[in-house]
Amino acid sequence: MTVPLPHPVTREPFDSPVAPATGWPGDPGSTTTSVASSPRAVERLAAGCASVEELAEVVSVCRACPRLVAWREQVASEKRAAYAEEPYWGRPAPSFGDPDPRVLIVGLAPAAHGANRTGRMFTGDRSGDWLYAALHRVGFANQPRSVAAGDGLVLTGIRITATAHCAPPDNKPSTIEKRTCAPWLDRELDLTSSVQVIVALGGIGWEATLSAARRLGWQVPRPKPRFGHEAMAHLTRPDGRVVTLLGSYHVSQQNTFTRRLTEPMLDAVLRTARELAN
Ligand code: SF4
Repeated sequence: MTVPLPHPVTREPFDSPVAPATGWPGDPGSTTTSVASSPRAVERLAAGCASVEELAEVVSVCRACPRLVAWREQVASEKRAAYAEEPYWGRPAPSFGDPDPRVLIVGLAPAAHGANRTGRMFTGDRSGDWLYAALHRVGFANQPRSVAAGDGLVLTGIRITATAHCAPPDNKPSTIEKRTCAPWLDRELDLTSSVQVIVALGGIGWEATLSAARRLGWQVPRPKPRFGHEAMAHLTRPDGRVVTLLGSYHVSQQNTFTRRLTEPMLDAVLRTARELAN
């Protein structure tokens, strides 16, 4: 049992992890939301979602990966010293952004003290600082910073999802965990039929997108397109509409500190996405 701590924006007190429907800004979960407790349940519940809002709701309470559930809740309970006075979300981070997007970003997984703390994709860590600043520069975000749920950030024309929705130890979901989480990504792609461009952050996001496209019956080029920064591939939905897959090096500190990924490089990918989706 944790001591309730004030949310950094609303100052309302919350336990860590945060219980659904207790007032956390943007929490899509409710006390009656169905909880997926197994891979089969993820498949069944994902298939039954009729909108991205419904999908975000069921994702936000998922408990299908025992190792990740234990890890996300342990991190939420122990906290990092810098955030010792904040509540931690400690649940899956649902996809975030425009519900009717033209561009979809596929990332890897929430960071332990980033989205696992704030409950919002890429929010509250250095990777997110990079990504949201770029989204603002390119015109997808109304503000350059993403600090905490409830801070007023709005994305237009773009949505962010992930290969796995829970923070994994060492930032590495296992193969089984990625497979267990995959139906959520499949349904996200299915429900965002307005998407014209998918930006895959890193090779794992690239591979996950190609695998999801194949499962959904999209045409994927052969041989399999290789990931690279500014790599491009064309995928075709069953109805004939073409979706462009664009690669970008991940906004991880490993890449940004070493300048493998620079701000102009990230801006260039997002500008291309914007132009292709217009
Ligand atoms: S990683 Fe995905 S499938 Fe596993 S518990 Fe989290 S949301 Fe559920």
